[in-house]
Amino acid sequence: MLIDNHNRKINYLRLAVTDRCNLRCNYCMPSEGIDFAKKDKLLTNEELSKIGEILVQMGIDKIRITGGEPFVRKDLMVLLRNLKKNKGLKELSITTNATLIGPHIDELKELGIKDVNVSMDAINKATFERITRRDHYDVVHNNLIRLITKGFNVRINFIVLDNQNVQDIIPILDLQKHYPVSVRFLEEMPFNGGSKKFNAIKWDYKAILSYIKSTFPSIELLPSPKTSTSINYKIAGHKGNFGLIPSFSRTFCGSCNRLRITALGDVITCLYGPPKINLREIIRGNSTDDNIKNAIQGVVGKRAITGFEAQKEHNGVFDNSMTSIGG
Ligand code: SAM
Ligand code: SF4
Repeated sequence: MLIDNHNRKINYLRLAVTDRCNLRCNYCMPSEGIDFAKKDKLLTNEELSKIGEILVQMGIDKIRITGGEPFVRKDLMVLLRNLKKNKGLKELSITTNATLIGPHIDELKELGIKDVNVSMDAINKATFERITRRDHYDVVHNNLIRLITKGFNVRINFIVLDNQNVQDIIPILDLQKHYPVSVRFLEEMPFNGGSKKFNAIKWDYKAILSYIKSTFPSIELLPSPKTSTSINYKIAGHKGNFGLIPSFSRTFCGSCNRLRITALGDVITCLYGPPKINLREIIRGNSTDDNIKNAIQGVVGKRAITGFEAQKEHNGVFDNSMTSIGG
């Protein structure tokens, strides 16, 4: 079992499989993109599979595949098949922009993948396309509805952006009124590749909640697992629910159970901290599995207690883009 120096059990890995993306969401990267990594610096399918296998042996039982956009990787389905072979893995899930998932939906179902998070920051086509700087609204909406009707456990990630999509907060709740999905509102973080800097946000989770309450005054707080990053609510009569993720306010650090590995192999023990080791170099140096495990155990044993602490180790943290970290 992986336990950190603050006695927190680490059982959840967010594994980024690429830093590339076919969208250019304006809160994630500049319009021209970022300096994407050279191909030979990205982990290969074999390396990603090996990392998955080793971490499951160490006690990770939940892996979320992220990126960049995971489905721009042509060999993604092979990786998912490999990861599924790990007996100790209870949950394999994906976070996607849902532009390219369409042809893979049936195979994902066959593979036993149940949870898919879809990032969709507007329910209005023009607003969506302004934010993502691409014209893929229709395909995203179709794929979202297909995922829901095929029985996936779908969560929609909606980042609340001042002057951009606030008017879509109430309309997007219609999705969870009619379908058994969760719409999660996230606070914007300054991980945008340096395109916009800020130290405070107008739309924190409290402001989002009071905005929703002005339309739906009677909402019920739902019980959530201790390690959940979202505070979840039910609106009476609605099939699904909604959640608030204080990603900027960081109220959830005390129960953090996550480890992140980037597509380059960097191990990140806190979203707000610098990478601690690089597994690509270790694996390509022909290390034994035990050496790899010791390296991971070493950094997990020195985790910062909160994101605010981790941030102090990292001067340029907010010059980074979420497409490199994986969210
Ligand atoms: N491309 C996939 C997607 O968009 O779902 C996966 C990668 S994306 C980097 C993972 C998550 O990070 C998405 O839900 C996205 O909305 C979120 N994200 C990206 N930039 C963010 C920011 N500046 N603040 C908060 N969340 C962000
Ligand atoms: Fe791409 Fe996801 Fe970043 Fe949008 S949030 S640019 S879809 S990686």
